[in-house]
Amino acid sequence: MTELLPNFVAGRWQAGSGEGVPLFDPVLGTELARVDATGLDLTNAFGFARDTGGAALRALTYRERAALLGAIVKVLQANRDLYYDIATANSGTVKNDSAVDIDGAIFTLGQYARWGEALGDVRVLADGDAVKLGKEPVFQSRHIQVPTPGVALLINAFNFPSWGLWEKAAPALLSGVPVIVKPGTSTAWLTQRMVRDVVDAGVLPAGALSVICGSSQGLMDQLQVFDVVSFTGSAETGAVIRSHPSVSKHSVRANIEADSLNSALLLPDAAPGSEAFDLLVREVVREMTVKSGQKCTAIRRVMVPAAHYDAVAEAIGAKLAAVTVGNPRNESVRMGSLVSRAQLNAVREGLEVLKAQAGVLYDGSQAPLVDADPAVACCIGPVLLGTRDADGAGRVHEVEVFGPVATLLPYRDIDHAVALAHRGQGSLVTSLYGADDAALGQVAVQLAASHGRVHVITPAVGKTHTGHGNVMPMSLHGGPGRAGGGAELGGLRALDFYHRRSAIQASPEVLARLGTAS
Ligand code: NAP
Repeated sequence: MTELLPNFVAGRWQAGSGEGVPLFDPVLGTELARVDATGLDLTNAFGFARDTGGAALRALTYRERAALLGAIVKVLQANRDLYYDIATANSGTVKNDSAVDIDGAIFTLGQYARWGEALGDVRVLADGDAVKLGKEPVFQSRHIQVPTPGVALLINAFNFPSWGLWEKAAPALLSGVPVIVKPGTSTAWLTQRMVRDVVDAGVLPAGALSVICGSSQGLMDQLQVFDVVSFTGSAETGAVIRSHPSVSKHSVRANIEADSLNSALLLPDAAPGSEAFDLLVREVVREMTVKSGQKCTAIRRVMVPAAHYDAVAEAIGAKLAAVTVGNPRNESVRMGSLVSRAQLNAVREGLEVLKAQAGVLYDGSQAPLVDADPAVACCIGPVLLGTRDADGAGRVHEVEVFGPVATLLPYRDIDHAVALAHRGQGSLVTSLYGADDAALGQVAVQLAASHGRVHVITPAVGKTHTGHGNVMPMSLHGGPGRAGGGAELGGLRALDFYHRRSAIQASPEVLARLGTAS
């Protein structure tokens, strides 16, 4: 039997009392470890984090907590090679794709450490200036932000076991709020191992960081008045979280990052042969293949001028044909596998649904795998679908196939393209490609209300832009409507979720003493 990975709660490592759920290598099919949360005393786990962890964190200043993040960065950097091995084994990702998860997490933590350092040695954040409440300025109002005296429950998806943990834990810990993370089960090993290393290094106060692997049963029931829950996953589970009795009864703040039908839009001026045209082709291929398309931000719909439909299909297909798929341990492989057989089946089923309304423009799904047994490995090559009836293909705007799949859609004019993008019903990100700055600016504003992020790519930034699907800590991550309505990252704004805002009404003398060391 493989090792049963213990949970870390109430300040100690505790194994579940059940046999555990096995975690697999999705390429070789071998069992790697097991996880189980059966029998844990969750009330004690949450209470310890809330009381012991919370009190210890809130006793520190923002600068001191920023130093904790810096210390976590050092621990993770020291164990980086091991994390890459775990990602290869448990997520089936090639090195470049593991980097998005692992180095992306380290970068995000480091960035929050720098921002936190600049906040200085205070325990209260001033929020705007004092405003007089009457005719004379003798009695005023000033808003402050203080850490919520609860726990942050982070429920994460399987596709980012590292980044998903730290992009949330960084602002939470910097805010002074203890974290309990529940990773997506199929890839939980990396999350568990990172927490283990940080715990072993002794860099955080007791109770500041806990990990519970395996079933989510009972976790939401533990939430109390000042707790927050930050969820990433499917829209279906997101709806369960949002409507959970603990959330409604205790007004628990819930951030939901759900699925999204992201798009890319080639502007009318970007004809075949133009730089902007090539940039779209490159980005679509990258988004379809990075992490085998298992990215919440990946491009699912590609909108192009009707006249360029065939040229775009041909150019994307030609590049996809060069993508080698298989065992990530083989240096010649560019795209590894999906995380599990369940995901492979879900992608195949999703493809059939889309194929009822779209044709196949490029099919890599039957191509031979490199160094992997197709009967065992959860690999599937990229598939580009397309339909000339962009309006009639309703499923294309509704069904997220969480794999290396995108659909090409022609538009008549820019208003039509914008309308098609909006049919995603709220998305995390869209990217625009063209060389006409004024037109791009206008379209960006038209799409802003329905997208958390609009990524505009012109030839001027062709080599320097950060990538359609790359989530940078400086920018908002989250989207309205179907994308869950969440808001993560975006610099220090991310701290708002973990703070309580209060208006202090007092004399200027008292107000002058708020927001300084206490
Ligand atoms: P999922 O099935 O919804 O699971 C997400 C997490 O919720 C997992 O940890 C899961 O645990 C847990 N969970 C399941 N049922 C629960 C319940 N009743 N109460 C509390 N927790 C529960 O999603 P997934 O399949 O892991 O992830 C893929 C989806 O995530 C895709 O749709 C993708 O678009 C989305 N995603 C969105 C973002 C974003 O930032 N917007 C980022 C990444 C992924 P188990 O694993 O144990 O079932």
